[in-house]
Amino acid sequence: EDAIIKLLSSIGEKPKHKSALSEGSLKIYELIRGIEKEQFEVFYQPKINCVNRSVFGIEALTRLNHPRLGLIFPDRFIEAMERTALINELTKYVLEKSLSQWRHWQAKGHLLNIAVNISPKEICNLDFPEYVLNLLKENSVPPEYLTLEITESALELDETDSLEVLNRLSMHGVKLSIDDFGTGHSSLERLRIYPFDELKVDKSFMLHARENDNDRAIVESSVMLAKRLGLKVVFEGIENSELYNMSDHLGGDVIQGYYMSRPMQEDDLIGWIEDWISRNS
Ligand code: C2E
Ligand code: MG
Ligand code: MG
Ligand code: MG
Repeated sequence: EDAIIKLLSSIGEKPKHKSALSEGSLKIYELIRGIEKEQFEVFYQPKINCVNRSVFGIEALTRLNHPRLGLIFPDRFIEAMERTALINELTKYVLEKSLSQWRHWQAKGHLLNIAVNISPKEICNLDFPEYVLNLLKENSVPPEYLTLEITESALELDETDSLEVLNRLSMHGVKLSIDDFGTGHSSLERLRIYPFDELKVDKSFMLHARENDNDRAIVESSVMLAKRLGLKVVFEGIENSELYNMSDHLGGDVIQGYYMSRPMQEDDLIGWIEDWISRNS
């Protein structure tokens, strides 16, 4: 445990109680080892242009490939990592991994928008914009091709640093998306304060939008609001053909969901895209 505490303090974290180290679904030391041994894997889920069915881009979604437990999903590690500085390491890893792929995809003829989820900790770090902009430059990715998805509830309303960080990124062309829209508190206040470009309607509303009038009303009014504010609308949770077929009519610009594809490994992406294009043109 002393070694773990040393590790944690080397990444800027000073745990007060040793017991705090074992909180969360996965043990912190397993997550540290995951970072060190590069056990995290970035999966990519396609985002599809709702109107012409072209491939708009991908969302990077992380899994931990645990040597003993197998593939572990983010609901078992993001929260624990957010309680320590480990989340910063993960964000860096995911950004570096996905941005380094961009030129490879471009060489294959696909200009993909890359979406990466970021956490509250990054948003109040004033060095974050410069780090992101440098990384874009190093990988020759135009800033417009990167979207940072921020879970709505992660944003504090009275946080001046996060406003500064998001404004700087936005000024340089990086796109900002409000994720899981409708599930947090004071959604509207956040939309008023922060320079968002995109709104992702939470999948919990989308999943039953067809048969549940209340869910549908929430989806429709989120779309109307987004459109009035000039935001792109993304529907996640498109799980079946009914949702797929009604998403254009509901006013979506971009859709994402199991009906098109689950998140997949990098090796499968180009093949999937080419197959999609041949089936949809
Ligand atoms: P999210 O950003 O809202 O990502 C969408 C989640 O919905 C993903 O779950 C995706 O696999 C899932 N999904 C996609 N299409 C469908 C569908 O049609 N039906 C259903 N039921 N689900 C669908 P996943 O990959 O388990 O990620 C869960 C959450 O963990 C993400 O939600 C995001 O908030 C967080 N997360 C994932 N990777 C990262 C990361 O690298 N960094 C950070 N900070 N958070 C991450
Ligand atoms: Mg997301
Ligand atoms: Mg999210
Ligand atoms: Mg979401």
